[in-house]
Amino acid sequence: MTKILHRNIGTNLPKAVAGEGIYITDSEGRRYIDGSGGAAVSCLGHNHSEVLAAMKAQMARISYAHTSFFTTDIAEQLAEQLVELAPEGLDYVYLVSGGSEAVEAALKMARQHFVEVGQPQRRHIIARRQSYHGNTIGALATGGNEWRRAQFKPLLPETHHVSPCYAYRDMQTGETPEAYAERLAAELEAKVIELGDDKIMAFVAEPLVGATLGAVGPVADYFKRVREICDRYGILLILDEVMCGMGRTGTIFALEQEGIVPDLVTIAKGLGGGFQPIGAVLLSENIYRAFAEGSGLFQHGHTYIGHPIAAAAASKVIEILKRPEMMVNVVKMGDRLQAGLDAALGQSPYVGDIRGRGLFRGVEIVADKDTKQPFDAARKIHSKIKTEAMQRGLMCYPMGGTMDGKQGDHVLLAPPYIVKPEQIDLIVERLAAAITAAI
Ligand code: PLP
Repeated sequence: MTKILHRNIGTNLPKAVAGEGIYITDSEGRRYIDGSGGAAVSCLGHNHSEVLAAMKAQMARISYAHTSFFTTDIAEQLAEQLVELAPEGLDYVYLVSGGSEAVEAALKMARQHFVEVGQPQRRHIIARRQSYHGNTIGALATGGNEWRRAQFKPLLPETHHVSPCYAYRDMQTGETPEAYAERLAAELEAKVIELGDDKIMAFVAEPLVGATLGAVGPVADYFKRVREICDRYGILLILDEVMCGMGRTGTIFALEQEGIVPDLVTIAKGLGGGFQPIGAVLLSENIYRAFAEGSGLFQHGHTYIGHPIAAAAASKVIEILKRPEMMVNVVKMGDRLQAGLDAALGQSPYVGDIRGRGLFRGVEIVADKDTKQPFDAARKIHSKIKTEAMQRGLMCYPMGGTMDGKQGDHVLLAPPYIVKPEQIDLIVERLAAAITAAI
């Protein structure tokens, strides 16, 4: 009998004993293609020899030094690498241990920034429905994933939500993407005015919505309109790239494709590639200055921030991600994955939409393709797909349809960037078979 409180109690989980490239092997000798990189984590696959060597070398130097006493070469190096990679305007880095921690830190940075610059009345966070920003209390309050929030609502601080940019369901017939982006911007502006135009501290969004919607990207110009509203009302823009960042969509930061620079960016998952738990917040000079010239501190901190072994893993992951062939493969294999999914599933009466960018793709399942009506949540189509896929040696990341018919079940695919064409074809074949078997 297990002594672990697993996520799903009573399920008979296979035991992972080895990982190599895009495969995980269990204790029965079964091999699974890691078609989702866990949850969009394993960007370089498993047991990457160069990352392991970098971690070992760091362990032999120093494994831990508390950040209130010391900095380390490796943490400094990682911060420099990140700033060099980031769009101009994101000049400083705060290292944490994961995605939720990054979001919590970003929210507190936004709040402290306004306290430091003499605008303490700014306290409201606006985020979007059908989003996910993490499971800690502040991050959960920020996210709009109703299934994850429901029972914890009495504990959550007040946050405000507007519509996501979800063209498949919400763009109206005859509406252009530009007009849709304008409509969403107008909704955001109306929310700002309703709450008090000098009372908002931050707008938070995922460039591509991952866990809640399944790789749903914005229409053209959406983030430009959002940036304009934030600028008009002095609101900080926080983009959460925990899932879609670190090369997943074909550029190191997904936001590079939107032509804007936010004030704060959160990253995690692919940053450590699963070799170590690590995340980071990238912040603008402006925010840094407010702290440096104000109280002289950022009033926050966890025990493991800037952990040297995690920093060593991330530093090597970044070095590898920067090799030109990496992003080329993400785009090429991503196109192949989309084309394969379109060919295998596009005609299915139960597949409503296949979308995404790079190696970040989502398949939305519906009961009726014409009306886009989701399956009854009680049928748990998404978990059945996961089970069927595992039986066929494929890991995919599923999520149930929620929000009273406003989204279907979906499956997220996010394979490692080292995936090969024939492996992409296998992922498509196994997923198509799993979906057919599950419905
Ligand atoms: N933000 C986004 C966009 C995520 O997708 C996730 C996790 O899926 C998180 C934050 C939370 O990250 P973590 O699970 O590392 O705390």
